[in-house]
Amino acid sequence: MKSIFAAALALACAAPAAGQDPHPTFASGTATAQRGQKAYGVLKVPAGSDAGYDIPVVVIHGARPGPVLAVASGAHGTEYASIIAVEMLIDSVKPDDVAGTLVLLPLINVPSFERMTPHVNPTDNKSMNRFYPGSPSGSQTERASYVIMKEVVERCDHLIDLHGGDLDENLRPYSYWTVTGNQKQDDFSKAMVLAFGLDHVIISADRPKDPTAARFLENAASTRGKPSFTAEAGRSGPVDIADAARLSAGVKNVMAHLKMTADPVTPVARPIWIERVVTIAAEQNGMFHAAVDRDARVTKGRKIGVVTDYVNTPLQQIAATDDGIILFVRAVPTLKKGDTIANIGVVKR
Ligand SMILES: [Zn+2]
Repeated sequence: MKSIFAAALALACAAPAAGQDPHPTFASGTATAQRGQKAYGVLKVPAGSDAGYDIPVVVIHGARPGPVLAVASGAHGTEYASIIAVEMLIDSVKPDDVAGTLVLLPLINVPSFERMTPHVNPTDNKSMNRFYPGSPSGSQTERASYVIMKEVVERCDHLIDLHGGDLDENLRPYSYWTVTGNQKQDDFSKAMVLAFGLDHVIISADRPKDPTAARFLENAASTRGKPSFTAEAGRSGPVDIADAARLSAGVKNVMAHLKMTADPVTPVARPIWIERVVTIAAEQNGMFHAAVDRDARVTKGRKIGVVTDYVNTPLQQIAATDDGIILFVRAVPTLKKGDTIANIGVVKR
């Protein structure tokens, strides 16, 4: 008995043979980590029809094998709470505590962050969460999306894409659960969403099913059979550290759920499922004066705000089109035709 025990102990203590560990080292872009290491680097987006740039990446390669979880934020570079959430993870997750690998992209849209431009990459005026799987010959956003596919999506088992209220949005926290139609995958991703911990969940049943036209980062992973989801928290401008902390804690909850750590995790027991999101868009240019805040419960017809001209003459009363929850409401007076005034989440009964 003793010799068998000793042999087993020796095996357990020995470095795993290459055949046992699918990733003795893990690389994403220029960040290469051995087991038990944290590596910092960049994804190089090459120059093309416009300039190239570097996307920061951190690989936390756990001391033991396990799932590869990618966490991205800053596709919209002024959704600050989500970006700060990933900065918190970079510092607080220790490789020794992890079975598996965490690939962190804290700031995909560096040009947006640097130039404080909401919604789009100012280099080519494209949203950086609409062009997956990208293209090596497209403009900067498409080339960046292509590099993220190769260096992150194709190398991970699961992906969480973090967003938040942009500069012009006061947003209440929620996750999206994408329904792909593959029951096993959908059950898996639903369990991840509930482990994450936000109690409002939007059911996304209308995302593209074609991996070559995935559009969204999460959907690029989901359409490749990798259970994944998106979560949002944060309001316009200054970082509410509680919003950032919720997203950061959510990622740790998912790591615990995936057995990447030994931490306890309590999934949301009674989530509020949102079956439909109704967008109220501006019909004209003007000045928006909000009458509700994020998370308000509204009934159809309830006043959401008023649009005036620039000498305070009312142009249009904005009313709720449905009963629901104000998922986000416009945070600033600036209003151009087509801008989103509010998103109302219609609760599943
Ligand atoms: Zn976003």
